[in-house]
Amino acid sequence: VQKQIILDTLKSFSTHPSADELHSEIIKSHPSISKATVYRNMRHLAEKGAIIQIAVANDVARYDGCVDCHQHFICEKCGGIFDVHIGGDDDSEKLNDAVRNKYGYQVDKCITSFTGTCLDCI
Ligand SMILES: [Zn+2]
Ligand SMILES: [Zn+2]
Repeated sequence: VQKQIILDTLKSFSTHPSADELHSEIIKSHPSISKATVYRNMRHLAEKGAIIQIAVANDVARYDGCVDCHQHFICEKCGGIFDVHIGGDDDSEKLNDAVRNKYGYQVDKCITSFTGTCLDCI
């Protein structure tokens, strides 16, 4: 039940929150859910592939409830993370195939991030 509350709350965000931000939102309606519970469930959900953990250099992990294939643009000035939809699933599949063919790895998914300066910070 807690896991579903956490997942639903994450999906209500479009800003790719950290576990701390998510916890602050969850306790507004479910004050009994502790920060440790949120952290633990986020880890499990990410391991299962139900959510995506976005690695951000020099920053805390941020989470994405949308596991459709998409990329991220990370603003280095404000730390904002924006969804980027370039190409479709076909393009990602081509990239996955290219890596499979060249290295022989079993590829599950392709996660790409772009960094730079967002429109608000230019
Ligand atoms: Zn910015
Ligand atoms: Zn995203």
